[in-house]
Amino acid sequence: MSTKSNFERFQLKPFIIEALNDQRFSLPTEIQERLIPAIISGKDVIGQSQTGSGKTLAFLIPILERIDVAKEEVQAVITAPTRELAAQIFSELEKILQFNKSEDEIDISANLIVGGTDRLKTIGKLKTQPHIVVGTPGRVLDMVEEQALKVYTSQIFVVDEADQMLDMGFIEEVDKIASRMGEELQMLVFSATIPEKLQPFLKKYMNNPRHVQVDPQQ
Ligand code: ADP
Ligand code: MG
Repeated sequence: MSTKSNFERFQLKPFIIEALNDQRFSLPTEIQERLIPAIISGKDVIGQSQTGSGKTLAFLIPILERIDVAKEEVQAVITAPTRELAAQIFSELEKILQFNKSEDEIDISANLIVGGTDRLKTIGKLKTQPHIVVGTPGRVLDMVEEQALKVYTSQIFVVDEADQMLDMGFIEEVDKIASRMGEELQMLVFSATIPEKLQPFLKKYMNNPRHVQVDPQQ
């Protein structure tokens, strides 16, 4: 018999459990098992594991758990290095949010903010601030500088695929977005590798982070 616990141990909101059941995700992956409680408790984390190990849900589940729907303001910003990766994260988020409908008067809202789309439309959809933003650093920073997106209310910032962010030269933009957020920001950094060149950024923004590294199964 498996000694691994299922997702219910984390005492998640019922709609999250429903969404996970719908996708037949009954057991957390190792990185999820180790990171979900730490992120829910508010810790800064560095999650390092191979591609396909479930890092997306490791941050989406705690973020959804921590959103206060009563506040009409941005509470989490998630950045990924490419439009495709941002769109994938957004699609995983939407799969869960489907189950949030009609449970409360107000649902959790999320926007995808990426380049290569109509800029004015992006500004238009930000007339109401979403609870969660998923996007690429360039367009997110553009919206912040335009004052269309108000990230100073956000308590959570996710940098996904941090090694790719570095390779693609996006760390400066990510840094600028982070600098617009509050002092109490919870930083969540995910990557397959943590290159030495990432250290200055990690040192600048992370406060006693929990570094969880999961090695590939032999
Ligand atoms: P990573 O970001 O680490 O590369 P992803 O978060 O993209 O990995 O997850 C890889 C795949 O595993 C996705 O298709 C996702 O839906 C699936 N997955 C995530 N968590 C679980 C789970 N607990 N059980 C089964 N499949 C999962
Ligand atoms: Mg990923």
